[in-house]
Amino acid sequence: MKVHKLNNILNYILTDDELVKSSLIERQNYNLDQIINYLDKGGKVSTVSSKRQCEFCGKIAGSINYYTDGNWVWPEWLKHYISDHAINLPNIFIEKVKEDNIDENLIRRIVNQELEIELS
Ligand SMILES: [Zn+2]
Repeated sequence: MKVHKLNNILNYILTDDELVKSSLIERQNYNLDQIINYLDKGGKVSTVSSKRQCEFCGKIAGSINYYTDGNWVWPEWLKHYISDHAINLPNIFIEKVKEDNIDENLIRRIVNQELEIELS
């Protein structure tokens, strides 16, 4: 089976202790509506019930389920850090958001596990 590589956004935003880097907070580098709209188009690639609690405000940030656009994977809880804490995100990811060129067929193949996924 062909291996399809996906970039894990957590590699950019989490410390070694799995906390969101505080240096990224309140450093929004995107249009809020545009990025939320983009993330909502992602395909769900895992089904788990665990949720993440936000280390900054204590709210439940969302589930730890992963979503993908075919290039990146991100957890559901990322939206909380975007909407409530204006987290800074990798510029190469923001470029994808601006392009808004999602391959729905590729997402479907990933969601249906027709491709072997490698996270990096
Ligand atoms: Zn929070």
